[in-house]
Amino acid sequence: MTAQSFLGLLGSTRPRGAGKWSARCPAHQDKGPSLSISERTDRLLVHCFAGCTTEEIVGAMGLSMRDLFMDSPLSQRQRPSLAPQNIDLIGVAFRFEMAALDRRLRAERVLNAVQSSHLDELSEQELDQLLNAIARAYHDRERAEFMETVADDFRLKAFQERTERHAA
Ligand SMILES: [Zn+2]
Repeated sequence: MTAQSFLGLLGSTRPRGAGKWSARCPAHQDKGPSLSISERTDRLLVHCFAGCTTEEIVGAMGLSMRDLFMDSPLSQRQRPSLAPQNIDLIGVAFRFEMAALDRRLRAERVLNAVQSSHLDELSEQELDQLLNAIARAYHDRERAEFMETVADDFRLKAFQERTERHAA
């Protein structure tokens, strides 16, 4: 694959001197451009300063290690329609939502159990345990809300990237 084809899959890239570019890493939620791409005579070198491996980076782009070599042509079906970032973002959003749901259900179970228990029959130690459980339940709820916010952010980002790509 040529540098141009590779850069085309990454969305916005910045030139950093001859045969060098930076971009947002597709393998993690990258706020700054952590990914550096350098062109060698026979291949492309990619490096994520946040620590993603080369396999993870090309994998997130729907490519394989072989695609980093110049003689490997980029087939038409691997063109931006494969939109790897979108798939990844929505997958991440989904995982966050599942984790949030898990915490919400756990919190509900605890709080329901508390409502139906007879507090006056509990020993001091049991009361103590109960209070801890309630505190955890409220904490779970807060975490769930936070995770749902994060999931929304990912989804919005995925939507924006898709819109940008359509406009491009
Ligand atoms: Zn990375």
